[in-house]
Amino acid sequence: MGSLRPPSSRLEGLVPYDPKYIPAEVMLSANENPSDVPEQLRQELARALKGVPFNRYPDPLGNQLRATIAEANGLEADWVLLGNGGDELLFNVALAWGGSGRTFLDLPPTFSVYAANAQVTNTTVVSVARRADFSIDEEAVLARVAQGDIDYVIVASPNNPTGQLASEEFLLRLLDATDALVLVDEAYFEFSHRTMRPYLESHENLLILRTFSKAFSLAGVRLGYLLGHPSVIRQFLKVRQPYSVDALSQAVGQVVFQNRALFQEGIEAIRQQRARLFEGLRAIPGVQVFESDANYLLFRMARAGEAWEYLLGEGVLVRDFSTAPMLENCLRVSVGSPEQNDRFLQALRRFVMGGAPGEKA
Ligand code: PMP
Repeated sequence: MGSLRPPSSRLEGLVPYDPKYIPAEVMLSANENPSDVPEQLRQELARALKGVPFNRYPDPLGNQLRATIAEANGLEADWVLLGNGGDELLFNVALAWGGSGRTFLDLPPTFSVYAANAQVTNTTVVSVARRADFSIDEEAVLARVAQGDIDYVIVASPNNPTGQLASEEFLLRLLDATDALVLVDEAYFEFSHRTMRPYLESHENLLILRTFSKAFSLAGVRLGYLLGHPSVIRQFLKVRQPYSVDALSQAVGQVVFQNRALFQEGIEAIRQQRARLFEGLRAIPGVQVFESDANYLLFRMARAGEAWEYLLGEGVLVRDFSTAPMLENCLRVSVGSPEQNDRFLQALRRFVMGGAPGEKA
């Protein structure tokens, strides 16, 4: 035969998610931690991995790590679900609360994976755009959920790629205004220090997403978790891949989470560097930089696409949003080490001043 019938019509018009992860000397495009896991944990990690039986399937729910995370959050284990990165859990939310005849409320510009997951699962996407300064149009969101047809809404706080938190007051009003599942994506919680955790018990429709990929230097391991009512968590057990969190990830996550105090210094350094990077960007003529509570900064400038190319030529990879809807001429830079941030700022200054590559700014 040799011929092949087409895939599901849902895939028409869908573009694969492409993080544009190009190797570069200075990687500032994926909001990773510039520091790897602290040296003093490496030995303990090696010991933990040595004890993992490779021939056995992992505990499907990763109950040891699940219990550890639950305890740290003052919860029972059945309020926690581990996932293969936050990404898997976001997909599970679309599988369980979306689907044909169901509706997702998106607040763009935001993490594009939310809308992509909705499309793949045949979920209708309704958007309430953010304002020009990327703040949430709170009254418009509340008015939209009041129509009663929204099944789930995702609010990234801090928002990616724009950096701002949603206000706690707004999130509480939203939770009270709707019976939709409200997922507050706290992937950058450790940098913002703000969480909706205190409202979990009182709001069955609140779900919180966290990840090990950012503050805990484990982007390469793929580990994230949800905090939510057991009645909600139970639903995800129906759609999740049973062994999605492998035994190695569970073992690494256990050591890292138990020793999370060791990451505090690095987190504080990133917060300080964020302020320095903000000031550095603000001082460059023609650059508009947005306030951020996360470990990255969004900025807008003329010829942003060209600036991205120039930076890459100088060995600095940032994220290009210059042609993305509502983010025209925007680039996003992750907060790196002091040296990485300097290299980025120097290269961007050279671009703006029209200097030749390699010239000192
Ligand atoms: N949510 C947000 C807002 C993110 O920026 C990311 C990472 N880009 C994730 C979730 C998922 O992260 P991970 O799959 O690495 O846990």
